[in-house]
Amino acid sequence: MKGYGMFSINNAGWIEKDRPVCGPLDAIIEPIVVAPCSSDTHVLHGGSGEKNNLILGHEAVGKVTETGNLVKNFKSGDIVVVPCCTPDWLSLNTQGEYNAHDEGLMASFKFLGSKDGTFAEYFHVNQADANLVLLPEKVAPEAAIMTVDMMSTGFHGVENANVGFGDTVVVIGIGPVGLMAVAGTKLKGAGRIIAVGTRPNCVAIAKEYGATDIISYKDGDIVNQVLELTKEGADSVIIAGGNAETFRQAVDMTKPGGYISNVNFFDITDTLSMPAYSWGLGMANKTIRGGFCPGGALRIHKMLEMLEHDRVDTTKLITHTFRGFDKIEDAFKLMDEKPGDLIKPVVFI
Ligand code: NDP
Ligand code: ZN
Repeated sequence: MKGYGMFSINNAGWIEKDRPVCGPLDAIIEPIVVAPCSSDTHVLHGGSGEKNNLILGHEAVGKVTETGNLVKNFKSGDIVVVPCCTPDWLSLNTQGEYNAHDEGLMASFKFLGSKDGTFAEYFHVNQADANLVLLPEKVAPEAAIMTVDMMSTGFHGVENANVGFGDTVVVIGIGPVGLMAVAGTKLKGAGRIIAVGTRPNCVAIAKEYGATDIISYKDGDIVNQVLELTKEGADSVIIAGGNAETFRQAVDMTKPGGYISNVNFFDITDTLSMPAYSWGLGMANKTIRGGFCPGGALRIHKMLEMLEHDRVDTTKLITHTFRGFDKIEDAFKLMDEKPGDLIKPVVFI
């Protein structure tokens, strides 16, 4: 079969591979919609270390073509939403609060992490009953695909930020992940939502999702800007973009007793540091959390419930649409180039 991926770091192209083998609990899926993500480009450029002959892609809605003999809930022909994290549910770590780290750090991220991804004629999903979700009748596949990483990750940022009614929340970064964090923050009942970003279409959508104020990191220190708006700082800050310096800024703009919640992917060479005063000399009761996209069937079922009942419109994120399997290459290259008007591309196969 054919797939789009990387031969080695910075060397992408079409790869020929054997069709994946289905284990007794697993399923083989044929994609019907895929979406390139900044994490795919990050891996291509060596962000996760050396990778060779790997098919990229981790966001997909697809059709089941084969199931293992122990799979109970799915059959060939079912249209399913595939979480980008598909934990091994037999791992003890998965039975704890976070399912993203089954056999180690981010190990539930199996596409790209430990096997080929979804930009293929066929791809493999482990433990189908626990990891796949039927596409709800009322939800369009392009809306559903935005739940598997963008919404689950953005909403995880909100969960870790402990957002309460009337809170003032800063969302740093309004790419697709940050935009989902803005939407989730509003759903959790925040009062004021200050979004940080500059791209005009992202700014417009941030406002539609519930941002009450927009500030730009290009207009000077964002800590000063937030303090000017709020006097004492924010109850919570969600980091969904920026660099190592953003971490210190987030801690500085958070009130004593507040929460800093990171979903940004820092670079392997970054050092996260801050003056002791930023953290109230260690006594400010500021909670710092960072988390990876929760996966599995229950998580994505819950995200889809919010789409089915019109709580959030994820299709606002889609700025570019392609048709045809071969167009995966164009969509991926677009994601890599990141023109200013791009939020998310999708490819209908
Ligand atoms: P984008 O690159 O599309 O968006 C980044 C945002 O950060 C933009 O709004 C950008 O502003 C803003 N930004 C850039 N530099 C700064 C700065 N110095 N200070 C403040 N804001 C800044 O990213 P995505 O939305 O695709 O992803 C966001 C992050 O989440 C990435 O690091 C990604 O790897 C990570 N991620 C994490 C996952 C997880 O499970 N934890 C899963 C998926 C993604 P501008 O408007 O000017 O472009
Ligand atoms: Zn992704």
